[in-house]
Amino acid sequence: MERLAPVLVVSNQKGGVGKTTTVVNLAAFAGLAGKKVLVVDNDPQANASSALNKTAFEHSIYSGAEPVPTSADGVHLVPSGADLADQERRLAGAVGGSLALRDRLKAHRVHFDLIVVDCPPNLTCLPTNALLAATHLLVPLQSEYFALEGLSQLLAHVDGLRQDHELQLNLCGILLTMATPGSPLAQGVEAEVRRHFGQGVFDAVIPRDEMAAVASSHARALPDHDPLCPAALAYLAATRELLTRLGLTTPSQVPA
Ligand code: ADP
Ligand code: MG
Repeated sequence: MERLAPVLVVSNQKGGVGKTTTVVNLAAFAGLAGKKVLVVDNDPQANASSALNKTAFEHSIYSGAEPVPTSADGVHLVPSGADLADQERRLAGAVGGSLALRDRLKAHRVHFDLIVVDCPPNLTCLPTNALLAATHLLVPLQSEYFALEGLSQLLAHVDGLRQDHELQLNLCGILLTMATPGSPLAQGVEAEVRRHFGQGVFDAVIPRDEMAAVASSHARALPDHDPLCPAALAYLAATRELLTRLGLTTPSQVPA
């Protein structure tokens, strides 16, 4: 039987919590580990696209954009294009518009080992499309005080979707991001999140590290920019956990 790639959606309706940085770097380390990875940029802000490829794109996945190579080995990108904001309005008004991404990803799931979808900071049409296409959900949580409130809104949205749709989605994990090393506040948030979600939380915690931002500004992922900086080492550890959680520890299933 044909093996279909898991669809990992990285979502949190808060902005600036490390979604895009997480998508880019988990994808890059998975690519380095020999997986054939597809990043789908599902955010009109196109940050994941510009972090992986310097081209300005016209089309997005909803208007037929095809995978393009990126600066990261083993990683292809279906970019966010200039049309995505218009596509969002069209989908919001169309019957079945929230299932468009699930449909578009079907063919790609045969040709890749892993699909990673970035989301905008809201819970409207585009993230809903992603959640309905997802097999796994990863939630980056910034290590700060109100982090858990946003998470409960997201999980309530997922429960709401379950009432009307057959979701395939599992909570793959919560990843703590931008933790200031040695900060009592960050440690307190980590302890609280682990108390609530136990094994649902990745062991790896991503530290605040300027290199994460610098790499993106050069359109490179961390393994290509500074593979030994603290954020890179943490994303490497998180990728190992991710591949285990997804059952992707065997060699790539897809011919090169
Ligand atoms: P989101 O996609 O949730 O809006 P981003 O990944 O774009 O979040 O991160 C927000 C900002 O913080 C970006 O400028 C990014 O480069 C920076 N950033 C992300 N992760 C880190 C980190 N671990 N340390 C320092 N800065 C980071
Ligand atoms: Mg983003």
